[in-house]
Amino acid sequence: GETLTQGTVGAVAVDGKRDLAAATSTGGMTNKMAGRVGDSPVVGAGTYAKNGTVAASATGAGEVFLRGAATATISDLIEFGGRDLAGAVYEVLVERLPRLGGTGGVIALNAQGVFDAPHSSEGMLHGYLTEDGRLVTKVFADESPANR
Ligand code: ASP
Repeated sequence: GETLTQGTVGAVAVDGKRDLAAATSTGGMTNKMAGRVGDSPVVGAGTYAKNGTVAASATGAGEVFLRGAATATISDLIEFGGRDLAGAVYEVLVERLPRLGGTGGVIALNAQGVFDAPHSSEGMLHGYLTEDGRLVTKVFADESPANR
C-alpha cells in the first residue's frame, strides 16, 4: 500500500454530552473521472457518526469504502455485533476492505474517548489530543505512541 498523503482531512470529536461527530474533506483521487462522487461526502461510506457507537472518518480508495459501506459497517459491528471499537475498525479496514480491492484508513472515536486509527495502507498521517493536553501525531502503525 501507499502512504496516504493526498490531502484528505478528517476529524472526529466527542463533547461533554457524549455527542459524537465526524467530518471529512477531500479533493478526491488524482486523475478522477469528471463528476465522480467519492466516499467522503457519503454518510456511511467515508464519514459516519452515531451516538452510542462511533464517529469515523476515512481516507483511501473511496470506491471500496462505498462498496463496503465501510464506516456504517464499523458502527453496525459495534451495535449489532457486540464488537469493541478496536475490533470493529480492524475487521473493516484490515480484513474486509483489501478483499474488495483497495486500501485506506480511518480515524475512529467513541463516547468513552477510545480512539483508534487503523489502516491497510502503509502509513496514514493522523494525530489526536488527549484530555490531559498531550498532542500525539503518527504516520505508521508501529510508531511509538507519543512524540511530545
Ligand atoms: N477517499 C477519497 C476519495 O476516494 C480520497 C482520499 O481519501 O484521499 O475520494
